[in-house]
Amino acid sequence: MTLTSQITYSSTRATKNKQEEATFSDAVLKGIAKDGGLFVPSKFPNYPLTDALINTSYASLAKAIFSLYLTDFTEIEIEKCVDAAYDSKFSCANIVPLKTFGEVSFVELFHGSTLAFKDMALSILPYFLKTAASKLGVQDEIVILTATSGDTGKAALEGFSNLDGIKIIVFYPTDGVSEVQKKQMTTQEGNNVSVIGITGNFDDAQTGVKNMFLDEALKNLLAEKNYRFSSANSINIGRLLPQIVYYYHAYLELVREGTISSGDLINVTVPTGNFGNILAAYYAKEMGLPINKFICASNVNHILTDFINTGIYDIDRAFEVTKSPSMDILISSNLERLLYALSDQDASEVNRLMTDLKSNHRYVISNEMKKKLSTFYGGFATDTETLETINTLYKAQHYLLDTHTAVAYKVYSDYVKETGDHTHTLIASTASPYKFAGAVASGLGINDGHHNDFELIHMLSKHTGLAIPKPIENLDLRVERHTKTISKDALKEEVLHILT
Ligand SMILES: *Cc1c(COP(=O)(O)O)cnc(C)c1O
Repeated sequence: MTLTSQITYSSTRATKNKQEEATFSDAVLKGIAKDGGLFVPSKFPNYPLTDALINTSYASLAKAIFSLYLTDFTEIEIEKCVDAAYDSKFSCANIVPLKTFGEVSFVELFHGSTLAFKDMALSILPYFLKTAASKLGVQDEIVILTATSGDTGKAALEGFSNLDGIKIIVFYPTDGVSEVQKKQMTTQEGNNVSVIGITGNFDDAQTGVKNMFLDEALKNLLAEKNYRFSSANSINIGRLLPQIVYYYHAYLELVREGTISSGDLINVTVPTGNFGNILAAYYAKEMGLPINKFICASNVNHILTDFINTGIYDIDRAFEVTKSPSMDILISSNLERLLYALSDQDASEVNRLMTDLKSNHRYVISNEMKKKLSTFYGGFATDTETLETINTLYKAQHYLLDTHTAVAYKVYSDYVKETGDHTHTLIASTASPYKFAGAVASGLGINDGHHNDFELIHMLSKHTGLAIPKPIENLDLRVERHTKTISKDALKEEVLHILT
């Protein structure tokens, strides 16, 4: 490969003549571009399916895909990152097992240390960051600012705790996460971690964090103290690329088990919030994975369903707290990367849309972009439908879904009814049912309202015969270390308080 054809990264908002090209190391360290845009690769490398890939391990596949994107990392650096990330932290030897029922397969992305799919990327992001910092000779301490709707926070804390040269600060909506999610975060150990509840929702947390990234005065003040910010949210390109790997892995597994033949098109259904997971599937398709339709599943915060159906993104609506809290989001950050792709990398168009969103709380995409959006199908499920779906699938197949994956399965079922499209479908199974024990037990009809989620974990296990995952065994007995709650307007003060 010649140097000029190598992949670089630039902002979704940087017009061609003003483009600052970044290496992967620059992009992963910065987290977000100076102009507020998100880093995107200069092109999608081709990664065709070959017979030789069929017996490739998860780690080998990851190395091969990263070597296409991390063009400033050596093969050895990539290998070290991958081997440190995808090891015995995962309770399944093949990392992401597949469960097939007729025309649908669930790829279980929740066998990492915090029981949600966020582990897939956050197990490796710390190694990407450490490698990037050492390559660029960065001496500053890196401060990872993280907003979470519940799962990112814990996965980032696990990934970054006790790492030299890094501090991590997590903000979560104090009334917007499940009991298990909250306890997982408030009991986090480590000498470099801060966990803060905010009286607000995920969008408030994410906006507060994004504003700090763009606050030059704050950055300069902290630079004097040898701190620099980076992000563990899916705005960081280092979160997105690791998620491409499991779509390839799952596809190859479908071929291995004989469910499809190599080259067959599949559909992909993803329970969606910040649009990171489904965007990784889109990137996989751009690289050559045969995907027909992207089915984007939402809960009653169905701003993405409306967007896919109308081409209008409108955030003037009520924010609902649901039983799938990791999808309670109205400002879906990674959609910006899709807009960039759909507009043929037209940064001025992305700028126009993002300015509209900021000033008018809405934007409308062009007809041309709308046409390209037709590979996406959008739908949503209410909480009642979500719980019914958990019950129905459990009765039919003895297979237990968490609330987010149940949203996906419901929307997938609607899609098949509506279109008659029986293409084999891969559903991203994003969390262990035990993380949302209260809601899942309600779905099965065994929640009498007199037990907390920790008691319900045991009741669920007894009822289903499914073992309680190690990472949350005795979670309720652990000591709470982080109990602070602040106003949604006080994020910056809190960061200054922690760091200065
Ligand atoms: C984060 C999360 C989602 C949403 O994923 P995005 O990449 O933000 O769209 C869905 N389900 C679970 C369990 C999650 O933790």
